[in-house]
Amino acid sequence: MVKVRVRLGSIFDDPEFFEVKMHCTMCGKCCLNTQMELLPEDIERIIALGFQLKDFAVFDGEVWRLKNVDGHCVFLDPKSMRCTIYDNRPIGCRLYPLVYDDVEGPYIDKECPAWNTVAKDEIRRLGNYLPIFVRRSLQTRDWVRLRIGYRK
Ligand code: SF4
Ligand code: SF4
Repeated sequence: MVKVRVRLGSIFDDPEFFEVKMHCTMCGKCCLNTQMELLPEDIERIIALGFQLKDFAVFDGEVWRLKNVDGHCVFLDPKSMRCTIYDNRPIGCRLYPLVYDDVEGPYIDKECPAWNTVAKDEIRRLGNYLPIFVRRSLQTRDWVRLRIGYRK
């Protein structure tokens, strides 16, 4: 699949930067019942692949998230357990298992079977971006309204 480049003038224009260095086993566990937040950059990239917003995203009243079908992300192939848009997957999917909590700050989610393979300095390298990611995800609502005209 062709890698899509979007330029919205934000730090999130470079998705590869946000890929956590780890030994992911591609088990697909993080793609089951996903609640992954979508940034404007993610939506722009996925729409450029030919999808419509309603095909892959749901709005929960605050943020846009990846849509599930039959208990898994709409982009997961349940037979192979592989992501069908891997080269263009959302930034949150690239950051996982690095996640963020207002109280705890950035941490590694031990629900990921390969959590202990995350390179040691990844929290230091990416941790400060996590609250920026959360703030950006809260801007997606307005961005979608302006860019796509979707109102809720
Ligand atoms: S749960 Fe962990 S090991 Fe499995 S696909 Fe997701 S990041 Fe990779
Ligand atoms: S976009 Fe891909 S990596 Fe992200 S949850 Fe869906 S299937 Fe998994």
